[in-house]
Amino acid sequence: MAKLHVKTGDTVVVLSGASKGVKGEVIAVSPAEGKVMVKGANIIHKHVKPRRQGETGSIVDTEGAIYACKVALYCPKCDAGRRYKTEIKVDEKTGAKTKIRKCAKCGQEL
Ligand SMILES: [Zn+2]
Repeated sequence: MAKLHVKTGDTVVVLSGASKGVKGEVIAVSPAEGKVMVKGANIIHKHVKPRRQGETGSIVDTEGAIYACKVALYCPKCDAGRRYKTEIKVDEKTGAKTKIRKCAKCGQEL
């Protein structure tokens, strides 16, 4: 399974397409499709049909999936979407290793 460079809860910036420049939180990822859903990006009108008797159909504004390659992790220091590098951080006391992500441009921990 292909892994995506962003995960749920990340703040990303949309780089291209109709929602270019939109900054938002990743609310869902689909590694199988290579797509992500970003809060506030690619708003689609979903036509909801009545499911039960007495219910009425409606049009709901919701986020649509966009290709993950169109988004980049947001760097608060650069105030832009950036590529990031991954580093292994070793805790001096416990020796525990954790992966950290740093902005490729300014080195800000993300
Ligand atoms: Zn940066």
